[in-house]
Amino acid sequence: MTTSPELQQIVDAIRARQRFVISSHSRPDGDSIGSQLAAAYALRALGKQVTVVNADPAPPPLQQFPGVTDITIADRADGEFDAAIIMECGDLARTGVAGLDRFFVINIDHHPGNTEYGQLNWFDASAAACGELVFDLVRGLQVPLTREIATHIYLAILTDTGSFHYSSISPRTFDICREALEAGVDPVLVARNVYDSNNMGRLKLFGAVLSAMQIDSTGRIAIVYLDHEMARQAGGTYEDTEGLINLPLTVKEMQAVVFFKQTEGDEYRVSMRSKGNIDIGSVAKEFGGGGHKNAAGCTVTGPVDALQKTFIEKIEEAIDGRPAHR
Ligand code: 5GP
Ligand code: MN
Repeated sequence: MTTSPELQQIVDAIRARQRFVISSHSRPDGDSIGSQLAAAYALRALGKQVTVVNADPAPPPLQQFPGVTDITIADRADGEFDAAIIMECGDLARTGVAGLDRFFVINIDHHPGNTEYGQLNWFDASAAACGELVFDLVRGLQVPLTREIATHIYLAILTDTGSFHYSSISPRTFDICREALEAGVDPVLVARNVYDSNNMGRLKLFGAVLSAMQIDSTGRIAIVYLDHEMARQAGGTYEDTEGLINLPLTVKEMQAVVFFKQTEGDEYRVSMRSKGNIDIGSVAKEFGGGGHKNAAGCTVTGPVDALQKTFIEKIEEAIDGRPAHR
């Protein structure tokens, strides 16, 4: 492995410090949880003191992974630390955790558009998951790849590649997965925990949302919508929609999907996914959000009909390859 200057600086900074807080973005996903806990186990193996803090709990299927139930859920990082390691966040506000800027900030991320808010910044958009960077960090720290660490790195990669669907996958992705399996990861168990341990409310909610799905006039874009009333009636929760967004893309003709989730009143969380070369990351960016080419999101406010029309226009432009600004 060739160690980049950024990684070497982070390794040196970690070695020189003792107390760490590790945070990631609000509404954490498999890559945030996996990256955070792989790093936490590695730092503890070096005798460091580590607290993991997130604004929101992990989705229920992820609670089955080692150390997840020990994560502190708080909107403030209380206590004294020598450094804050932030995973998966384009900017510090994405954590939803206040007070992290009091510490020496180490920023580790793979999202295009990272604002380099740390004292040390290691940003690699070519990584399929932040977990790939954490794998290199574990190596750099010369910590043995234990089964716990390897499981979290594999979890990060499995989920952030959409179960090995996305174009971000590289030979390195599989090299890391191979090493993870050699270290004792059980890929069947990980997949079962992540994908096959849901509740009935979730299945009913999927049914309700997919029944109400709309398709754009060209038949290439799916529009899915959820509000609090729909969730209540189906007997599911917003957390239960994790993964739902990928289902419309299982239809051959479908090129992109946009999912509007009401937060409060006229405010909506928008999640988007696309196939191949269709860059919906730049669509999200136009609305103040971000993400990757094939997976992105933002938060918008307005009448939902008008919002849906606007997003469809933008996504059609992205599909047809015309510039977003005309
Ligand atoms: P999701 O649709 O799963 O919420 O997000 C998909 C991807 O887009 C993730 O990689 C996530 O980090 C990114 N993303 C989602 N929402 C936002 C946002 O509001 N701002 C930024 N910068 N990135 C986002
Ligand atoms: Mn990620």
